[in-house]
Amino acid sequence: MSTPVRVRFAPSPTGFLHVGGARTALFNWLHARHTGGTFVLRIEDTDRERHNEEAVRAIYHGLRWLGLDWDEGAEKGGDFGPYYQSERGPIYERYLGILQDKGMIYEDAGALRFRSPRETVTVHDEVCGSIPFDLSNPGTHPDMTVRRPDGSWIFHFVNVVDDIEMKISHVIRGEDHLSNTPKHVELYKAFGVEPPRFAHIPLILNPDGSKMSKRDTGASVQSYIQQGYAPEAVRNYLCLLGWSPKDNREILPIEEIISLFELKNINRRSAGFDLDKCFWMNGQYLIQMPLERFTDLSLPFINAAGINYGTREGLVPVLALVKEKVKHLTDVPAWIEFFFNDDYTYDEASVEKSLRTEGALGRLQALGAHLANVEPWTAETIEAAFKDLAAALGVKTALLVHPARVAATGRSVGPSLYHLLELLGRERVLARFDRTREKFFP
Ligand code: GLU
Repeated sequence: MSTPVRVRFAPSPTGFLHVGGARTALFNWLHARHTGGTFVLRIEDTDRERHNEEAVRAIYHGLRWLGLDWDEGAEKGGDFGPYYQSERGPIYERYLGILQDKGMIYEDAGALRFRSPRETVTVHDEVCGSIPFDLSNPGTHPDMTVRRPDGSWIFHFVNVVDDIEMKISHVIRGEDHLSNTPKHVELYKAFGVEPPRFAHIPLILNPDGSKMSKRDTGASVQSYIQQGYAPEAVRNYLCLLGWSPKDNREILPIEEIISLFELKNINRRSAGFDLDKCFWMNGQYLIQMPLERFTDLSLPFINAAGINYGTREGLVPVLALVKEKVKHLTDVPAWIEFFFNDDYTYDEASVEKSLRTEGALGRLQALGAHLANVEPWTAETIEAAFKDLAAALGVKTALLVHPARVAATGRSVGPSLYHLLELLGRERVLARFDRTREKFFP
């Protein structure tokens, strides 16, 4: 029987979830879900200065937002805990003892070092292939420290101990760790343990070719949450940073990505980060998603803007009108605000352009009178009424449409006019025409 797949995401809590970290978590999650394995979350917080609750929360929040549920680990529990390195001291002591008993550890100025066997170590990587590392030269490869003089542990040591103890079968992580891997393999050998399989996934580069770092635009998952991206869109975008379905498709349901995802299909080449593409993909997702999902995702932004929309039943049809127009969920309040507030403000430039022009007042009045008789009140009959009146007045329909839109919404951009007038209802439309007339042509 083959060993069960157990993968882990092992972030150091630095204060936020970086896109590169999220992509690493995602690839681990995809591998676990593809194979029916277990996805573990381990917090690498040996660097105690950096450990704080808030930093860890940012990781949980980002992962949960992306829908990357973990089966075992921090906040979840499991058989191989604790899942915070800061709480695993006794385990590290025990493992240190094993190496000390074998005479592989020595002291150097208060620090503890591992005596390298000074061999060539070949790393077998599922993505990068087999790579020999010649570790024979102490000048270029000094014996690694495992413990600092202050008693704190070094990443390489605790990382390997935890992967052994947590029975990790595949280590899937960023390519920046590839050069650490021969050292890790030395430790596995020293413990007499078969190393896990390694898969080092390509770096993520900025458009200018530099390595993406935490200060770069779009680097923090939090920024997508705040800017009103749909999590499924961002997750789909991240899947393409180093992986593809090989048939030019870009937008794929996650279930399909799970079934197609194989470590051996991960690209070797670095992945170029393209925020425009992510933005485009978000718009596509918003257009295609079910209205109920769009409503769920929009609600936090609508509530934050303090829009008094009454009931969900009343809100959904309004969102249906604007769904295709919205590029970011943060835009939703501005698109719908006029609908729920009869005291909407007018955009000055729109008023200048469409209302304070020759004949606009007369046309608006004629339109109001004409719309009073439209039966039934539907987008189709309203549209027909606009066209009839334009023909009767001998003007282009646009000369009715623009003043009507500004009068009914205060702005010159918005969702389909006939549909929004239908939804507003005749009474409110006519009242808004009157209000506009009184305000600008007293
Ligand atoms: N704590 C390490 C990091 O955040 C984990 C590396 C690994 O996945 O082994 O880079």
